[in-house]
Amino acid sequence: MTRKTQASKFDVSNVIARRTKELLGKSSSIQRCAKCLIPETEQTATFNDAGICNMCERAEERDEQVNWESREQELQTILDQYRGKSRFDAIVPFSGGKDSAWTAYVLTKRYNLKVLLVTFDSHFRRPKHLQNIERIVRHLGCEHITFRASDHVIRKTMVESLKRRGDFCWFCHTGVVASPFKAALMHKVPLLIWGEPGVDYSGGYYSYKTKTPSDERWFNRQINLGINAEDMHGFIDDVEMRDLEPFQLPSWQEMKDMGVTSIHLGDYIKWDAPKQYEILNKELGWEMAEVENLHPRYHYEKVECFLQGTRDFLRYIKRGYSRTVQRANLDVRTGELTREEAAEMIHYDAQRPASLDVLLKYMDMDEEEFMDIAESHQIYPHRHDPDSVRPAQKKIDDHDLWEERLAGEENPADKS
Ligand SMILES: [Zn+2]
Repeated sequence: MTRKTQASKFDVSNVIARRTKELLGKSSSIQRCAKCLIPETEQTATFNDAGICNMCERAEERDEQVNWESREQELQTILDQYRGKSRFDAIVPFSGGKDSAWTAYVLTKRYNLKVLLVTFDSHFRRPKHLQNIERIVRHLGCEHITFRASDHVIRKTMVESLKRRGDFCWFCHTGVVASPFKAALMHKVPLLIWGEPGVDYSGGYYSYKTKTPSDERWFNRQINLGINAEDMHGFIDDVEMRDLEPFQLPSWQEMKDMGVTSIHLGDYIKWDAPKQYEILNKELGWEMAEVENLHPRYHYEKVECFLQGTRDFLRYIKRGYSRTVQRANLDVRTGELTREEAAEMIHYDAQRPASLDVLLKYMDMDEEEFMDIAESHQIYPHRHDPDSVRPAQKKIDDHDLWEERLAGEENPADKS
């Protein structure tokens, strides 16, 4: 029998120090969309000869070129093909946020589908969000399963993916997508229906014409940050490959053999988040919550995770804009905001979120190291200006709960 010896781990700390040093310097001018303001540091942004970005082009496609009536007929055909054939008619990946809540609501109430809601526990789910989930699941009368990964493993992957990609959410990106496919195999349900159309937020990968395929390629291209579970196993210590299974897609051949169809509802029904929020609020009691670094008009966005503000702050450091500006850009495209009004909202993105304190304790990292890592992932030509950042925000209402939880548990890093 051959004994396998593990390759020595590659420590990224030196790379971070070198990169940060190289990146220090004044910011150059940044190209922004002539219509919506999105900067060139957006991951998939490209600009046409008139200086208009690809997301604005997608919005025009959505409003002027897509025949939404025939799209809905296409949806009906797909649903009829699968209705009544399995234990459930469809799997709905369900965070409980406004988009997946809307998807569950539309499929059960409008199309009378028997769906299984599948949640991946993001580990920092806020109390108000859990109340929203409870309301929706009860009201719609759906069956619901939740996948949850090990705290020890999550902690390790958070530090590692922060260092390597400037994004601590690798476990959540991958777990959220892998779990519904696993549930589909477990229950032999070949139809998966995701929510909002991806093209509104990242116009470079897909379009309304192509739709957003939600398959193995999508997972590797857009979801897993270029790190699969096997890579992660090679990066971190004291975690077995089987512990990383929650973040791994099931065998795609098995999915194909089952005849999987995996679609986004937003490719078939035109998405209108503010209107959808109002209906969810009125019909199901779904409630918004204060979200760090987000303008109050968008407090129905991203209410799920306590660390959302810190995640968005990281994007501000890396790319010079974050969720408030991104969300405001959508409203500029629809004419609800002017370009100038959207530009003024940048100060919401430029705040040090109080939740950063919780994340630092959780990862056993000091703020200087965190900032070094974040700045090492800046996207050219953006250069982060620390003076642009406002002091720590006031705590959101569940902040002390997370501090108490951390104080009450033994830090695995202290174990000998
Ligand atoms: Zn634009």
